[in-house]
Amino acid sequence: SRVQPHYFGAGPALLPVEVLQQAAVDLLNYKDSGLGLGEISHRSALAVSVVDSAKANIKQLLAIPDTYEIFFLQGGGTGEFSAVVYNLLAAFALKTGTKGKADYLITGSWSQKAAEEAARFGVDVNVAVDARKASADGKSYGTIPDPSTWTLGTAEDTAYVYYCDNETVSGVEFPYIPSVPEGVELVADMSSNILSREFDVTKFGLVFAGAQKNIGMAGVTVCIIKKELLTRPSEGDLVALGIPLAPLVLDFPTIVKNNSLYNTLPIFNLHIVNLTTQLLIDNGGLKHQEAVSGAKAKKLYDALDAAPEGVYNCLVENAFRSRMNIVFTVPGEGKEKAFLEGAKERGLTGLQGHRSVGGIRISNYNAVGEKSIDLLVDWVNRFAASS
Ligand code: PMP
Repeated sequence: SRVQPHYFGAGPALLPVEVLQQAAVDLLNYKDSGLGLGEISHRSALAVSVVDSAKANIKQLLAIPDTYEIFFLQGGGTGEFSAVVYNLLAAFALKTGTKGKADYLITGSWSQKAAEEAARFGVDVNVAVDARKASADGKSYGTIPDPSTWTLGTAEDTAYVYYCDNETVSGVEFPYIPSVPEGVELVADMSSNILSREFDVTKFGLVFAGAQKNIGMAGVTVCIIKKELLTRPSEGDLVALGIPLAPLVLDFPTIVKNNSLYNTLPIFNLHIVNLTTQLLIDNGGLKHQEAVSGAKAKKLYDALDAAPEGVYNCLVENAFRSRMNIVFTVPGEGKEKAFLEGAKERGLTGLQGHRSVGGIRISNYNAVGEKSIDLLVDWVNRFAASS
């Protein structure tokens, strides 16, 4: 057991205490098997049951139809930046016999990194929108330019449109699912907001999320793919088209064919996802979680907005403020340090902004409780009053 931390780290992030308590038991002796979950074969019936159960929970929570497949990879979000390229281009080649282009919506540093990775593989990357161009200094993220300004390709030449649903560093979240031309696949990185709200899976070709923010620990990445994207031309044909072949650990059809157990999946880490998703189901599913996440975020933004002018500076345009990562600065010499130190004295930790942008970042993931938010809101108010 432990005292409940009031921790707002951006990832790896807080996990529900009941999940950790059960996981601790299961690490020692899983289901009275006499062995812990880190010790059993990934091909044993017990391990397969963990995979199947995690899949079933995610399917239930997101109402995923049978035309989609759920599977798990290693390599984190960054591994997916590469996996997307290999797998989506291969699927497009089956449809068109060509090497497609890829559209990237750049709304923060993670979508930017994903676009850079695609370019490294020799993909014809079209930056359909670069949100930095809409900022005052030309280099900051804080908005999502209107879709009418995006330069999207067509179903004839473009394999996919890629975007990041929630930019963890700058705190920019899409309030809608982007519309893409019929026949172009939509790919979303939901690493930092998956399972915080409902969404219509059928709008997507692929959704992926590293588990370590909202639903588990580092080591597993959750993927949801439209099944038809798992077929592709022969490897010889792909090579002839100049499409790079995926390493087998990132080759979606190989992983899916083997129920995510082609190679050794970290079953204990997946079990955490399993326990977390079960807890979400028991607590009323994503409708409930969405209401809770929204209410917690609102409390924080309301407190920041209510402070006297100039105490806090929220850098993100209101419509695109992330519910998950609330990013702001505290202008003035030594002010940020004072804010962080005062927070720490109250047991409120993990608030330092990302090293690339500085400032303060409050991560409001599913496991961060109402009580933690209330304590932080109280500190935000007190600090403002004393400024
Ligand atoms: N995408 C997003 C939205 C992220 O927040 C992160 C990690 N913070 C990544 C991708 C990269 O994930 P990983 O470190 O697991 O490669």
